[in-house]
Amino acid sequence: MKILVTGGLGYIGSHVVKDLLLDRHDVTVIDYKITKKIFYKENNVNYINANILDKKQLREIFNKKRFDIVMHFAAVIDVKESMTDPSLYYRNNFIGSLNILDLMVEHNIKYFIFSSTAAVYGNTNQTLISEDHIKDPINAYGNSKSMVEEMLFSYHKAHNIKYSILRYFNACGAHLDGTIGECHDPETHLIPIILQVASGRRKNLDVFGNNFNTPDGTCVRDYVHVMDVSSAHILALKNIINNKQSLIFNIGSGTGYSVFEIINEVEKFTSTKIPFSIKDRRKGDTDRLIADIKKIKNSLGWVSKYSDLQNIIATAWRWEQTLKKKLY
Ligand code: UDP
Repeated sequence: MKILVTGGLGYIGSHVVKDLLLDRHDVTVIDYKITKKIFYKENNVNYINANILDKKQLREIFNKKRFDIVMHFAAVIDVKESMTDPSLYYRNNFIGSLNILDLMVEHNIKYFIFSSTAAVYGNTNQTLISEDHIKDPINAYGNSKSMVEEMLFSYHKAHNIKYSILRYFNACGAHLDGTIGECHDPETHLIPIILQVASGRRKNLDVFGNNFNTPDGTCVRDYVHVMDVSSAHILALKNIINNKQSLIFNIGSGTGYSVFEIINEVEKFTSTKIPFSIKDRRKGDTDRLIADIKKIKNSLGWVSKYSDLQNIIATAWRWEQTLKKKLY
């Protein structure tokens, strides 16, 4: 199939591109990171330097090739930043998605796979969150993604665009082949930051709050390996093409770990003490987010193969060694 992947150089997008190539799809990536320093590009992918906010340029891309499906990863993703610069989030995540969907309507493209987030759920007392849980985001990031979901429901009704909405919990780890992994600038995510401390690239970890309503007071999150996240996209792609259903899926491991538990595991794995300081809570952080993953298992036959915490840390640690060599 001819697939347009927005944000295909990003953390999750690049893993999905690799899997799409294994299935011999014809992949075009648009990403605005192409002019920056890039570590890794696949052969046989057409990379185009484009911003999803530039509708004129997007139209030229859509005019040149008739895509069968769009997989939309391009987004800004930092919860904390979304609370201080909401405009960036609504513009990139909402207006950017609107541009893509309008071009899909213009070009009669009927399938859309969307990177959504567990942040759409907000705070909850439920131990496991299923897809029909009420949406009540408490940060602008989650809100911007939830707004795209709502927009998709309207485009589905009006233009018969079929969607797969994939709500990611905490994607982490790195590809087993060692070529790609998480590399945000600045890095804000817990596991890569702890590993930077373990490898000596950073002195200290800030723990954002120890007074949450959780057993040890630190936030509990569901950490899912990025290769499992990627395989969910491949199954969602097959499902949308074969069954033409519009569906929403959680992608998580179904298990929660607190920040202290993650620190503990990294200390054991790397035999390094992680110095940390307790800081104020980050605005927009919820106590706990753990996925109920029954739906994706039962509907798509998805299984998580790589998401035990040891494997997440092992692959992310190997990737940290690569980054350390490349960046210093
Ligand atoms: N966190 C932390 N220190 C950091 C980065 C993250 O204590 O330097 C905490 C954060 O408050 C959250 C959890 O780690 O409870 C996971 O955060 P991350 O940014 O990795 O993902 P998010 O859940 O925000 O998508």
